[in-house]
Amino acid sequence: MQLTVFSTKPYDRQFLNAANGDTGHDLRFLDVRLSMDTAPLARGSDAVCIFVNDTADRSILEILAQGGTRLVALRSAGFNHVDLVAARELGITVARVPAYSPHAVAEHTVALILSLNRNIHRAYNRVREGNFALDGLMGVDLHGKTVGIVGTGTIGAVLARIMAGFGCTLLGHDIAVNLECAALGMRYVSRDEILAQSDILSLHCPLTPETHHMIDADTLPLLKPGMMLINTSRGAVIDTRAAIRGLKDGTIGSLGLDVYEEEGDLFFEDLSAGMIQDDVFARLLTFPNVLITGHQAFFTREALTKIAQTTIDNIGAFAQTGTALHEVSTEKLAKG
Ligand code: NAD
Repeated sequence: MQLTVFSTKPYDRQFLNAANGDTGHDLRFLDVRLSMDTAPLARGSDAVCIFVNDTADRSILEILAQGGTRLVALRSAGFNHVDLVAARELGITVARVPAYSPHAVAEHTVALILSLNRNIHRAYNRVREGNFALDGLMGVDLHGKTVGIVGTGTIGAVLARIMAGFGCTLLGHDIAVNLECAALGMRYVSRDEILAQSDILSLHCPLTPETHHMIDADTLPLLKPGMMLINTSRGAVIDTRAAIRGLKDGTIGSLGLDVYEEEGDLFFEDLSAGMIQDDVFARLLTFPNVLITGHQAFFTREALTKIAQTTIDNIGAFAQTGTALHEVSTEKLAKG
């Protein structure tokens, strides 16, 4: 199979080449994102491989289909950036990497929680400048605090296990009960109750019409005043403008983000020599109690190895049988 890989970074090339080994698949690596302008570059490729900020809407899929592409292999679990209905109508199979390392994302979530709670991001800078004052650095014991997890799937369940180890009380909100979480003592509650009861609220659901802007101007007043809000799922689960209002009035005591609803214009690139044009994002960066990472929660050696291997396996299975190992169906879209 010939595969065109979009949004290639050096680490993608390294791990995909290693996984490809001597399978015989022909991998063409492109730095550019998949867009209307770049889609024609895949002409002649049986498959394209894309990441979270590549767009695969109907018009782009049409160009790919005209160029002979029959498989879109996602290097991600999330598939909200692909028009699955259009893909099916065009005869394009969409495959993903369903679970590469839930530990990577859950552990990064814990890193955000611990850093924000004990102000590690501020302490790091202070100590380097010879400022050893403790004012403003006080945290709380996590032991005994209530952690709410929205989306208790693969990643949410690993986070639940870790936070149970800290001695936290676990609340969950999901459209389906995860028995592993229930066995940890997690109590499943309504959306409104989890917002009201959580000292720390961590979002791990997919981005769907139901979860879009779950935290917005309407739900902000439901939050426990001074709570910590963490999002490592998809940016648009939070209405960022509402979150800024919540930070300003103290409803949100601290905010940890690995994803941002307009991250497509920012993340994965070195923009340090230019000006950030996104005023909403720039405002977020001014808060001392906001910690943002640029969609790096997945970024461990184990996760990259699994992503690359599963991608090559998806392609291999599709080449042999016409069916990828981990296909995303339109039914999946309906369920979220
Ligand atoms: P998963 O499918 O295993 O779990 C998602 C859970 O959300 C499921 O239990 C599902 O029932 C639940 N859910 C669906 N709709 C819901 C709703 N309306 N309300 C509440 N719960 C709902 O997915 P996962 O692998 O655990 O991934 C979770 C999230 O993390 C996804 O958004 C994924 O895109 C994101 N993710 C982020 C990174 C990163 O690097 N930041 C990496 C991988 C995955």
